[in-house]
This record gives sequence, C-alpha cells and structure tokens, in this order.
Amino acid sequence: MTEPKASLRPPLPASFPGRLTTGYEAFRDGRYKFEHSRYKRLAAEGQKPQIMIIGCSDSRVSPEVIFDAGPGEIFVVRNVANIVPPYTPDGETHGTSAALEFAVVALAVRHIVIMGHGRCGGIAAALGAGDPLTPTDFIGKWVSVLDDTAERVRCDHAIAPSLRYTALEHEAIKVSLGNLLDYPFVKARVASGDLALHGAWFDVSEGALHVLDRDSGDFAVLAGTLPLEP
Ligand SMILES: [Zn+2]
Repeated sequence: MTEPKASLRPPLPASFPGRLTTGYEAFRDGRYKFEHSRYKRLAAEGQKPQIMIIGCSDSRVSPEVIFDAGPGEIFVVRNVANIVPPYTPDGETHGTSAALEFAVVALAVRHIVIMGHGRCGGIAAALGAGDPLTPTDFIGKWVSVLDDTAERVRCDHAIAPSLRYTALEHEAIKVSLGNLLDYPFVKARVASGDLALHGAWFDVSEGALHVLDRDSGDFAVLAGTLPLEP
C-alpha cells in the first residue's frame, strides 16, 4: 500500500494566514534546506534533547529564538505564566505534568529550566490585574497556584508597587521549581544527580537573560546579555 503523496500545491483555505504561508516557505527554502540532514536524522533516530524549558505562552519569549536552538535541542512546554502545577495524581487531565513526565522519564532530559519573563500577563492576573475574561475564568484558576506568593508580594512593603510584577515573576519561578520536586520522578533523578533544575527570567525590553542562583535566591544577568547600546 503506497502512502498518499501530498500535492506540491494543495489548494489552501483562503482563511489560512498568509503570514504563515510566507513564513513556512522561507523556512522550507532556508533553514530546512540547510538542516535537511539533521531533520532526516532526527526523524530516523528520534529526539534526544538534553534540556527541557517550561516557559510562558507569551509570543515575545520563544525559547528556541532566545537560545538560538536547532531542531531536536530543546523540549519545550509553554503555558500561561510558565507554571509547574502542584503534583496532583487525581486521574484528571494535566497537560504540563504529562509533558514533564515524558521529558523526564522517556527522554531523560538532564536539565529543566523554568523561564519567566518581564511584562507577563499571567503574572499580572495572579496579582489581580483585570477581571476574569470569561465566567469559567480558566486563567484565574490556573494562576491561583501563585495565590499565596502573590499575597506575600502584595503585602511586602519593601517592594514598591511598580516592582511587584517583576518580584512575582521572579518568585513564581521559585514556586514552580519547588513544585517540580514534588513529582516523584523528578525528585528521584535530582537526588541521583541525573537531573538539574534551573530558573531564568528574560527581560523582553532589554533582551537580557537573568539566571537564578538557587542558593541565594537572587537573579543575576548572564554575562554577555547586558543591554545593547542604543
Ligand atoms: Zn507570560
């Protein structure tokens, strides 16, 4: 039985975004052409990424772009406010937990990076900015993981109101790192030295990457990512 061949020029639905068509054509004639053998090898051998990144869905913070990654290099999960939900083995559907399970157990990634970012809408929602978008308020429920931390940031008089968003963006990364260790398969591999956990925060405006020192709890700008001169 032969596989059906895709037509070279299938009729595209008129509504299909033109930006994606032109973008795909540029990829096909550029990067895919250049990395053709790599894609072939990845297709034949499967993926073996060493790094998992849990980032935000925000359109400005694509990990593959920020880290200049090629195909097969980074296993990425993106959700609102880059949250790792608490370990909840209740038989319900848990998308981020499923991806985490696959990355850690099946792919045996060696690093997990929680990557937050500046001007995060999900973090703003956790701080109570704006009303629920719908009666079901999926976002509110999702970011309620950060409720206690958001309240602590809100009540910390040492943090100026204008800095609360950045403060919670940083603290939320630590919450997710803590939640990671509640997953038994993560905890076991961290304990055996097979898996390392990291936190990072990307400054959308300046393009700087801040990396968490988990001992001190402070974020430091990664050398070489200082803001460019205007
Ligand atoms: Zn965000």
